[in-house]
Amino acid sequence: MTIRVRIAPSPTGSPHVGTAYMGLFNLAFARHHNGLFVLRVEDTDQGRSRPEYESGIFRALQWMGIQWDEGPDIGGPFGPYRQSERTVIYREHIRILIDKGKAYRCFCTADRLAEMRKLQHQNKLPEGYDGRCRNLSEAEIENHLQNNDPFVIRLRVPDEGTCVINDRLRSEIRYEYNQIDDQILMKSDGYPTYHLANVIDDHLMRITHVIRGEEWVPSTPKHVLLYQSFGWEIPEFIHLPLLLNPDGSKLSKRKNPTSIDYYRDAGFLPEALLNYLGLMSYSRPDQEEKFTLDDFVSDFDIDRVSLGGSIFDLKKLRWLNARYLRENYTPDQLWLKFTGWRINPEFLSRMIPMMQNRLHTLGDFIPACSFLLATDVSYDTALLTGHDKDPGEIAEMLQTVIFQLETLTDWIPGNLQTALELVAAFWELPIRDVTSVLFVAISGMTVAPPLYESMALLGRDMTRRRIMDSIDRLGSVGRKKMKKLEERWDMWNSVRHQTNGEGNQP
Ligand code: GLU
Repeated sequence: MTIRVRIAPSPTGSPHVGTAYMGLFNLAFARHHNGLFVLRVEDTDQGRSRPEYESGIFRALQWMGIQWDEGPDIGGPFGPYRQSERTVIYREHIRILIDKGKAYRCFCTADRLAEMRKLQHQNKLPEGYDGRCRNLSEAEIENHLQNNDPFVIRLRVPDEGTCVINDRLRSEIRYEYNQIDDQILMKSDGYPTYHLANVIDDHLMRITHVIRGEEWVPSTPKHVLLYQSFGWEIPEFIHLPLLLNPDGSKLSKRKNPTSIDYYRDAGFLPEALLNYLGLMSYSRPDQEEKFTLDDFVSDFDIDRVSLGGSIFDLKKLRWLNARYLRENYTPDQLWLKFTGWRINPEFLSRMIPMMQNRLHTLGDFIPACSFLLATDVSYDTALLTGHDKDPGEIAEMLQTVIFQLETLTDWIPGNLQTALELVAAFWELPIRDVTSVLFVAISGMTVAPPLYESMALLGRDMTRRRIMDSIDRLGSVGRKKMKKLEERWDMWNSVRHQTNGEGNQP
């Protein structure tokens, strides 16, 4: 039997280090066992999936040296490898489940479900679908269909019994079926949910081992039930521990950069980042901490994964990156690394138009825009408050900048300008009061090249990191304040949208 594994990222944002972590372990498992490694794009969330996020994931993984054997870009015998191109397959399969009585149409309206939830809440009953449409008669179903009533398709989860999951790294995981909701498998728009598409594809793509993050453990009983309902063999499940922030919480971009693009733009070497991810939850038999992908693959043993989570520690990554810079390159070779990064005519020439009118000598150029070529910037925190404003207020203002920047799909100067104008309007401040703080956060200086162009060139993830860093310097925004701020921000935006009839994008 050929071992076949996969990663199945959803293209809904910047390429995440967690995707590379899963990619590395799947790749190593496949290569070590002479198997194949598939990349499948799970883009069934139509509202959030975007083609540029997909290409961003491909680019980032390839930059790190994670290469798949089958995928949407290179094809393969079990394609298409993009779920949005497989809807016919899901419809055919959902029919099988309906015919077998393993799934059923649910015609409950959103209002009815809201009412049901309210009552469950009031009466302190367990939450979840109450099964009203579970046993509709043929005639009732026919009637609804005749009326063109919209419906979803739900999984018929047994009322009793236990689902036992055998995870290779853990002892048996048991779930009582009566604790599991009748999961929606197909939405009213005919699109499958994650659970349905994931199981059908893993089966049809002949995946033998599902190696994925621990956050999917609670979904697994639904998957097991689906395999059983179809009468398919269940792949082996291997749930890897999550990447964690240094404080032990799940790695999140609130506390740590999570985008692979950040590490690229900040000047980390792809091989160091890949190596670092190979230390997450894993130690090689010789305990060596610096290794190549080939080394990692050659003695890879999935049973050496230790549970309990792995702290993604930027300090340690910097230490490892420094070792690569020191030990792996002659100065000439290192020069090539610089030119492959940002010190090249293409990048530098984009800085010139921003600077031209400000130069007295050619020698003014690099000092004035060195912040675009720096991992971090250092400055006196008092510059952020202009020495007299309240640090907490400035931190909250910067936080709303983050909120607004997150809604931007195109990272271009015009959109960045509109974003900061909106933030200024929210706080009822002149735009200068926002931009002057941003100048400092981004460049560490009070006078800098044009702000929007600088942010555009610095890049989304580096910009975010600098703003987050400036918020931290100001003492960060506490949990409660953050919640209130989010509410105020959302409220203000919904009023703005209603009055302007605007879309969400500036
Ligand atoms: N689409 C899921 C994700 O975004 C895949 C989870 C899985 O591997 O089953 O990670």
